[in-house]
Amino acid sequence: MVGFVLTVWLDGFLTRLPSLAGAPARGERVGVIHVHTNASCGSGTLSQVIAAAKEADLSFLAITDHNLTLSDAEVAAADPPEFAVIDGEEVSTASGHYLALGVSDSRWIRGPGYDARALLASSRAHGAVNFIAHPYGLRDRWSDWGAQDYDGIEIFNDDAIWRKNKIIDIAIAALIYPVNSRLALLRLARTPNENFAKWDELLAERPVAGICGSDAHANLLFDRFSIAHFPSYLSVFSLARQHVLVPDVAGQDPDKAGADEILEAIKSGNSFCAVDALAPAEGFTQTVSSATASAGPGNTIPWREGEVLHVKVPSVANSAVIRVLRDGREIARQETQSLDLPIPGPGRYRTEAYLRQPGLTGWRRWTLWIFANPIYVTR
Ligand SMILES: [Zn+2]
Ligand SMILES: [Zn+2]
Repeated sequence: MVGFVLTVWLDGFLTRLPSLAGAPARGERVGVIHVHTNASCGSGTLSQVIAAAKEADLSFLAITDHNLTLSDAEVAAADPPEFAVIDGEEVSTASGHYLALGVSDSRWIRGPGYDARALLASSRAHGAVNFIAHPYGLRDRWSDWGAQDYDGIEIFNDDAIWRKNKIIDIAIAALIYPVNSRLALLRLARTPNENFAKWDELLAERPVAGICGSDAHANLLFDRFSIAHFPSYLSVFSLARQHVLVPDVAGQDPDKAGADEILEAIKSGNSFCAVDALAPAEGFTQTVSSATASAGPGNTIPWREGEVLHVKVPSVANSAVIRVLRDGREIARQETQSLDLPIPGPGRYRTEAYLRQPGLTGWRRWTLWIFANPIYVTR
């Protein structure tokens, strides 16, 4: 037992994760969606949360407290101009939770009801971008898949994912946390297979954006009492992050895009999620191109003979596995850093990339590193 504990600690001490500073493409904005402050179940003030986000090298946050929005004045007071804050709300309904993004208190008030469809329709009518939250979490699973008024779903939710681990993995992570908090959270990262399967099923009907939501609250609650401010905002902000690809519009600098432009790109699926704690994923590309046109995540391109899917992951010390899916079915899986695949016809093409866990107590397990929104190749 003592030997086991010492081995795990030593692993935590000796395993160094790569620095978070990647090389983003033009218009690539890295941020975290689904964050709670002390206005609901979080432990930090808005200013503290923004400070942690900056320390983690983020350029935006989507704040989603339970059933309340920040006031415009609060965001303005805590929001320095170069950091984008998307004001949102995590809305409780009788069918589960969803995120209404882009609603400030002046734009939408949820009212007393709990009917999911009525709430989704009402927030959307007031300009919200709606995302189903933790659809397969242990608690508050989403139950109304007949609802229509949403733009996307959370595929990876840090707070739902860690609960999918066995007790032994949670014990290892708890031992590592005091000496290496980022590694501890990384050890708990699992592939959200149910979420991916549901996403592919929904995509057969219409475009649905996929995101990772952090559900960061830096608060360990027991029967509504806070036991510890754990895991910290900084460690959660350093784990899974949304890389938003703000389109280049003439006359505008996408690297200076504000909350509205970033949210529009999230809604359109112009983004990918990455577990950057494994390796910074800035610069990842997934495009379909022909002689005359090119499309990235979330975009549509008409089918033409000779079109090629290009996938490239940033160069990393260890090899990566790239997996390509057409309409939810795997059509390629290669251990490589880039791939050029002539595509066989119209369909929805999306990719996933995997890296091995670093260190000893991760057992070199292949771990989800990147998943991108699909490119829609239409007839
Ligand atoms: Zn929730
Ligand atoms: Zn939440």
